[in-house]
Order: sequence, then C-alpha cells, then structure tokens
Amino acid sequence: MVQPHHIVLMGAPGAGKSTQSRLLKARYPVEVLATGQMLRDEVAKRTALGLLAEGYFETGALLPDDVMIALVTERLLRLGSAQGFLLDGFPRTIPQAEALDRLLQRLKRPLTAVIALGLDDAEAVRRLGGRRMCEGLGDPFPLHIDDTVSVDACLRLGGRIATRPDDEPQVIVERLRHYEAETQPLIDYYRRYGLLHSISAKGEPAQVQAEIIRVLEQTAQQTA
Ligand code: ADP
Repeated sequence: MVQPHHIVLMGAPGAGKSTQSRLLKARYPVEVLATGQMLRDEVAKRTALGLLAEGYFETGALLPDDVMIALVTERLLRLGSAQGFLLDGFPRTIPQAEALDRLLQRLKRPLTAVIALGLDDAEAVRRLGGRRMCEGLGDPFPLHIDDTVSVDACLRLGGRIATRPDDEPQVIVERLRHYEAETQPLIDYYRRYGLLHSISAKGEPAQVQAEIIRVLEQTAQQTA
C-alpha cells in the first residue's frame, strides 16, 4: 500500500504556502489543514475563537500555543486512518512542534517530510504588500495586484478582491519579525530529526511545486 504523506509546510509569510498547498492537494490525497485560513473562517462566522483571532490579526502576533494546539488536535483526530495530511501554518513555535510530535506518536502517524520554503525579506514584503485575496469563488485564494490577468479573471467570474487585515504594511513587518523569532527555530528542530527539506520559494509557483514533488517522491521511496 502507498503510505500517506504526513507533511508540514513551513515558510515565512509571503513564501507561497497556501498556493503550494492548493497545488499539492490537487495531486495527492492529503487533507490540507491551514491554520491561518481556519482562523479567518472563524472570524467570518463571528465565533468566540474568531473574535479572539481578530485581535491578533490586527497586530501580526501569534495566537497562544494552547489555542492552536487544541484546534489542530481536533482536526487531526477527525481524519480517516488512511488519510494523509498537510499542515500549513502549524507548528509555528517549538511548544507547538512538541505537542504535534506527542499527538502524532499517539496516533502512530509520524511526519514523513517537513518542507521549508525560503524567501528573503525584501521579496516577502513585495509579495505581501501587493497580495490581495479573491473571495466569493469557493475557497479564497491569493493573487498579486500586478497580476492583472488573475485580478480580471477573479472579477469576471463574480469574485471580490479583498486585502487581508494582516497584509497592511506595518503588520507585515511584525509578522516577519514573529516568524524570525518564533518559527525559524523550528528549522533546526526538524533538521535534527532528519525531516527537513529546504526549498527556495523565489521561482514561479510551478517551479517551486516541481521541487516539492521531487522531494515528496524521494521520501515516499525511502519509506516504501
Ligand atoms: P502567513 O503565513 O501568511 O503569515 P497565515 O494565514 O498562515 O499567514 O496566518 C495568519 C495569522 O494567523 C498569523 O499571523 C497568526 O496570527 C495566526 N496563526 C496562524 N497559524 C498560527 C499558529 N500555528 N500559531 C499561532 N498563530 C497562528
């Protein structure tokens, strides 16, 4: 039997995690658990968690570990036993990574790969500063304002162009700072476990995806 993929996708804001998750979901039987989008859905539904998250979005800070661990644990417990998963945006801190390890050990579903998308700050700021969301056409997806073809297509199909509240310029700088201070240490954490695969996020989405697929095929062969 083909082993399901159990993937963590890491990368600074703007590295293209959600774009890559979408592409990978179309190719592999993986459930994508994207914590940022899960929180934005809660905001839209005006739930208690959504109201809490809203405050953090305004400043660019991370939500408390316990809240995020509970959210992801609940979703992972609901997955079918043969179902693969791809975590986008979780873990973001060492305590989150440790909690995830304990949970996956209990579920006997160890991680098969951690993909870290690398991008320099200047390019991250450029991408996030011009990032808009196309909403109203199923799952919201990101596009860049300079990409007029995608913007026109979104509008023509009846979508709306929106700016994420945490893509405001002063918040972008804060998010990058939190990434560096709190999430970057996870790179060493996973390197020590031999799970880390660093990939440049600088190229076109298709190019980055090809590189991720190469890594995933390699790890699948090793575990087969
Ligand atoms: P990006 O990676 O582009 O910053 P996300 O959509 O992954 O954006 O996350 C948006 C926001 O949601 C984060 O800035 C943070 O406030 C919150 N968030 C998402 N995942 C986590 C997490 N694992 N731990 C703490 N906060 C989180």
